Amino acid sequence: MTDANTADTGMPSQEKPKPNLARGLRTHYCGELTEAEVGQHVSVCGWVDRRREHGEHLAFVDLRDHTGIIQCVVDERIDVRSEYISRITGVVRLRPEGTANENLKTGTLEIGDCDVEILNRAEPPPFSLHDESIGGQQRTSTDETTRLRYRYIDLRRQRMQHNLRTRAKVNSCFRTSMERLGFLEVETPMLIASTPEGARDFVVPSRLHPNSFYALPQSPQIFKQLSMVGGVDRYYQIARCLRDEDLRADRQFEFMQLDLEASFVTHMEIMDFVNEAVLDATQAIMGWRPDAIPSISWHDAQDRFGTDKPDMRFGLELQELTSIFAETQARVFQAECIKGFALPGGSSLSRNRIDELTEKTKSWGAKGLAWFRVGEELSLDGALTRFMSQQEQAAITAALGASKGDLLLLIADKRAVANQVLGRLRLEVGEPDEKASRLKFVWVVDFPLFEGFSDDGAPIPAHHPFTMPHPEDLSILETFADGEASKLLGVRSLAYDLVLNGWELGSGSVRISTPELQRLVFSLLGMTDNEVEERFGFMVNAFKYGTPPHAGFALGIDRFVSILLEEETIREVIAFPKTQSGSDPLTGAPTSISPQHLRELGIRPSKPS
Ligand code: ASP
Repeated sequence: MTDANTADTGMPSQEKPKPNLARGLRTHYCGELTEAEVGQHVSVCGWVDRRREHGEHLAFVDLRDHTGIIQCVVDERIDVRSEYISRITGVVRLRPEGTANENLKTGTLEIGDCDVEILNRAEPPPFSLHDESIGGQQRTSTDETTRLRYRYIDLRRQRMQHNLRTRAKVNSCFRTSMERLGFLEVETPMLIASTPEGARDFVVPSRLHPNSFYALPQSPQIFKQLSMVGGVDRYYQIARCLRDEDLRADRQFEFMQLDLEASFVTHMEIMDFVNEAVLDATQAIMGWRPDAIPSISWHDAQDRFGTDKPDMRFGLELQELTSIFAETQARVFQAECIKGFALPGGSSLSRNRIDELTEKTKSWGAKGLAWFRVGEELSLDGALTRFMSQQEQAAITAALGASKGDLLLLIADKRAVANQVLGRLRLEVGEPDEKASRLKFVWVVDFPLFEGFSDDGAPIPAHHPFTMPHPEDLSILETFADGEASKLLGVRSLAYDLVLNGWELGSGSVRISTPELQRLVFSLLGMTDNEVEERFGFMVNAFKYGTPPHAGFALGIDRFVSILLEEETIREVIAFPKTQSGSDPLTGAPTSISPQHLRELGIRPSKPS
């Protein structure tokens, strides 16, 4: 045995195999060894995964690197412990009969006659690096804050290694597909003026320009569009985006997008480019290629699934029932809209569960949930049947395509409320069809241009303000007069989202490419000429100098990889993520800065309002 502290570790002695360029101090990676190497003199490097004593002079040392584990048999007394960094040199041999380990790729092999060099000692790790089977998957039960505080140790776990390598492969596939499609990688700046994606900017104070701030990019939107004016033709970037949003859901302040933009194309080509990139990457990771990706209009998505991000892995489509109740005397069914769906086999749900679902629908904004169990000869059983005629009961059963044993779930309310609540209820009770593909992509197209009105009455853009209105609805914008505000909500745009398993993977649009139309949209958004000039003057100005028609898209890489890997949070596929509350237990960020640094920046701390 040699020790890093007393021996020259970088230079192996004469009789040992020489280091080589591809593998550095090792001749093989631990998990790479196969029976073909039996009899070969090899060197492996890594972390001591386990060490087991066999009597006075025999020890088994499992050495681990990112490729796997190899058992090394050491005939001398050595002091190696878990996580010690070692280089072990010896001869590959078959393990004695009956001692193979089926759970290990290298389970029939071991390295014998070992010389162990300790390259570095290690303190015992703060948690076990061996995953347990949790929910059918190999996972850790260590709490997340501890994992993040010691992320450099957590990353050694096999699952994290696999996740990082899968992510890198996805990025690499994206680059290959984009380059094959003629896209040019262009890097855009991080210190910029604000990009309007609808979130709050992270800002960076400027030392050289007191009282001025850079914004960190919410996306490369402005620059990718300007690159089209600049003749780039097809742009892409694996881009970091930063948005200072409340981290309610599974979000991070910073996230990565496959960002792209192309000139002289329509939304159809953009969707095809994205289809290729996404399906290529899925195939590379999963080993099979999902079906061609279907499209649905935003309106139909709302109507059939009650959401703009439908989970298409199961049915339970919402059905229109309003006309069935046209003559109803029952107050509960006198509503603008009545819709529902039949849950197959749902009659067996307990009364408690149904009450719980009713409470949920109320918390989502409905007045209540009408439910009926379907019995013999399609008779309905439920508290509200006494307010319904036989014809109404038969008609809803038929409209919902119900069978005996189903549970009918109905909401009577304003149309938007009925859709939204049923959409959530559908996700609450629905389960992916086992026979369906695990990955169901869908394009949602023709989004509305505006999603509502702000307190001061200005319409709020559903995407960013560079989104092209649908040509068929342009006249509404051009002839729009105050007082007809609600008409604006019916204006469609050439914007599209890609959805996977009910998650929005990304969005994009055809862009406005003339200064006149861009000014019109800014003015509808309630921006004065001065405000436009101040915030986007450079952009409107650029559009005067020869702007090709262009369109683009951006796809969230963190979300995509986490769905492919069946991870519950995107943090599992990010090397160094922040916690839910946006802090980093490893480095302590965000931290205060020194008074001197603040003075240089001309900043005096005060309590935030
Ligand atoms: N910039 C948009 C986003 O980040 C995507 C796009 O319109 O290309 O969502």
